[in-house]
Amino acid sequence: MKKESQTHGAFHSHFAESVQPLIELIDSLRVISIDKDIDLPSIAVVGDQSSGKSSVLEALSGVALPRGSEPWSGTISYHGHKETFYDPLMVDNLVIKAQNELAGNTVGISDEHITLEISSPDVCDLTLIDLPGITRVPVQDQPDDIGDQIKNLILKYISKSETIILVVVPCNVDITTTEALRMAQHADPEGYRTLAILTKPDLIDKGAETDVLKIVQGKVIPLSKGYIIVRCRGQSDINNKISLDKAINMEMEFFKNHRYFSSLLNDDKASTQCLARKLTQELVDHIKKSLPHVIEQINTRMLHVREELKMYDQGPPLEEEKMGPFLSKILIEFSDQIDELSRTGHSKDRNIHALLRPVFKKWDSHLRDTKESFDAKVKEIVDTYNEMHRGRELLTFSEFSEFEYVIQDHVAALQGPAMQTLKYVQEIVQNKFKEVCNLCFVQYPSLKCNVTKKIDEIQSKQEAKVEKRIKEFIDMEHLIFTQDKVLQKKLDESDIHQMTGLERYENIREDDMVLNSKGCALLDTRNLVPEKLSLYYEIVYQRLTDYVPMLLILLMLKDAAKTLRHQMLEMRNRADVVELLKEDSVQGRRRADLKQRLECLTQAQELINNRR
Ligand code: GDP
Ligand code: MG
Repeated sequence: MKKESQTHGAFHSHFAESVQPLIELIDSLRVISIDKDIDLPSIAVVGDQSSGKSSVLEALSGVALPRGSEPWSGTISYHGHKETFYDPLMVDNLVIKAQNELAGNTVGISDEHITLEISSPDVCDLTLIDLPGITRVPVQDQPDDIGDQIKNLILKYISKSETIILVVVPCNVDITTTEALRMAQHADPEGYRTLAILTKPDLIDKGAETDVLKIVQGKVIPLSKGYIIVRCRGQSDINNKISLDKAINMEMEFFKNHRYFSSLLNDDKASTQCLARKLTQELVDHIKKSLPHVIEQINTRMLHVREELKMYDQGPPLEEEKMGPFLSKILIEFSDQIDELSRTGHSKDRNIHALLRPVFKKWDSHLRDTKESFDAKVKEIVDTYNEMHRGRELLTFSEFSEFEYVIQDHVAALQGPAMQTLKYVQEIVQNKFKEVCNLCFVQYPSLKCNVTKKIDEIQSKQEAKVEKRIKEFIDMEHLIFTQDKVLQKKLDESDIHQMTGLERYENIREDDMVLNSKGCALLDTRNLVPEKLSLYYEIVYQRLTDYVPMLLILLMLKDAAKTLRHQMLEMRNRADVVELLKEDSVQGRRRADLKQRLECLTQAQELINNRR
């Protein structure tokens, strides 16, 4: 016993120096839930039903080993459920409740696992996986393949190279036929990570002790990590409320006084304490060995996560204080694109002017077409005048009011097509703005909805303004006005001179090439009236064909863009940032998930690097 406690002490100091940091490292990796991504070193307990698995774990958890100083607390988590509790007596009920919730109140099994985390000054830092016992024959209404189901579940855990396999075999069964050992040998043929535990040494049939001794000494089935024999609490011990502490002492007494097994204590092959020590050391060696692989896995995962994250646009920051600046940033980006669109017409898709040009062309050709009908109308009116109103005057036609009527009537008919042009332009601009909005805010439905509403509002306001202005244009054209010089230029370009023989009169012009009254009188010959009116209408056409598109570009595109940009700035200042940056659910969740995983992986890398 003296030797034992000395080793224990020596082990303690050694443990504190080199072992603890490693286990803590793995624990912290687990805390940042890196084990969802990466297989971390852990211990799985395998064995037949009632072989003593839970008893071994229970005993191990009661063994004093170097530890932290926190009070007892347990956290049970399964299937999205997590509960922390502070009373060790609650473990039983909570685990049963969890089992029932996962597998139902039945005897079936579930692939999901229950995680029970215990922190206490009285337990060692180990991660243990208590797997269901291997059953051979289904009981009650268990499914026929229950055995296979359980085996698959066990294999899933023990096949991982990160898992240490504890094979639990009772001393009172034939070890050579145990399924657990067979499975362990299958998953770990070299036996590098398999440790066998023999339980229930107090139940060995008289006379079979030497056979068991041979097994423990590795003479029957050799295992590279060997065997450890332990004695846990039997049913009667539990009935007698023997504490775990007391049980450990009783176990020690049992081995010390055992006729065949006492020597095993000195060989470090018996007792729960010895098992705990060995297990910790194994785990540490194992962690050291696994670490390069863990690092490798972390690096690969990081690469994958980064790759996938690239596919998602950079999203909003998760911290609220960074959201304001982020919103500003994306609103400015949007404003800049709208600005670019209004200045150069450039957008990701087609240039907006490429879309507007056909609309303006249509307006122009409509106006042009009306010239013909205008000429026809003028001719008709002149003819009617001749018929109806011509009095005794000779070839003069000076009824200005008749001119006015013809032009006003004709111009009034242009209002409809002008409004139609407005509608087309509005549609194009509105769609383009929304296109930019959709691209910029694809991830943010709320923001998109807000900005779209603003685009619509601005467009209808501008539309009302343009409508008013077009009506004004039409009203202005009712005035029948142009500068003399403008009409003169038209006259000069036309063949009216030849028709009147005006070129023969050299002194009919005043300065600036404008006809003097003599010239005007000369021009005012009745039979030329339709042609003159046609020249004036040409001027009307020129004014309208340019001004309507110019008005539309100015108000529907440029001014609308300006207003929108202004409103974006305002939005930035008094927005419900969190609401506006709410992401499209599926994409957002995936991205947030990836971001979190990347954070975990980075943290894990740091933890590992700091250790070295
Ligand atoms: P599991 O099904 O593998 O988890 O086995 P348990 O740990 O539940 O143990 C089954 C039964 O064996 C329980 O009644 C335990 O008290 C009992 N048991 C476990 N280990 C020992 C031991 O070393 N000696 C005796 N006598 N009983 C034990
Ligand atoms: Mg059990």
